[in-house]
Amino acid sequence: MDGCTYGHNALSYRVGIGYDAHRLVRGRELVLGGVKIPFEYGLLGHSDADVIIHAIVDALIGAMGLGDIGRLFPDSDPSYKDIPSRLFLGEVYALIKDRGYAVNNIDVTLLAERPKIAPYAGEMRELIARELATGSDRVSIKATTQEGLGFVGRGEGMAALAIASLFVPA
Ligand code: MG
Repeated sequence: MDGCTYGHNALSYRVGIGYDAHRLVRGRELVLGGVKIPFEYGLLGHSDADVIIHAIVDALIGAMGLGDIGRLFPDSDPSYKDIPSRLFLGEVYALIKDRGYAVNNIDVTLLAERPKIAPYAGEMRELIARELATGSDRVSIKATTQEGLGFVGRGEGMAALAIASLFVPA
């Protein structure tokens, strides 16, 4: 019944939401939005644990109704061990393109007590936009602390929220 009730343009615009969290540990490099950031802790995970990219990928997969990042890129798969999450973006972009969509816009909020990511946000936006064949003006990256509250506030981890919208280019 997809699209039948509301006409053929009903699915020409789709929105998805994504969330991710990872633990901060010593001895791991911190990679956020594909950019290496000097910090005394890094995020623990099977891949590089880039919470920003994971949240974006989940939002894009959600917009297409294809499940979630764990289904597409299972952490039981050894080929994903320690890989740059940026590569997930390229794989998701292939799915987006196959379905005739393009990225309309992405908005991300990183939840982290430290470090400040504003100096790196421009580079993150450009890298993410490049992987998704869109303009960096369509990718927004921002951050907030948790005022000392919860696991983010205690510096035990970071989390990210993302929303993504897709459209059918003319
Ligand atoms: Mg993750």
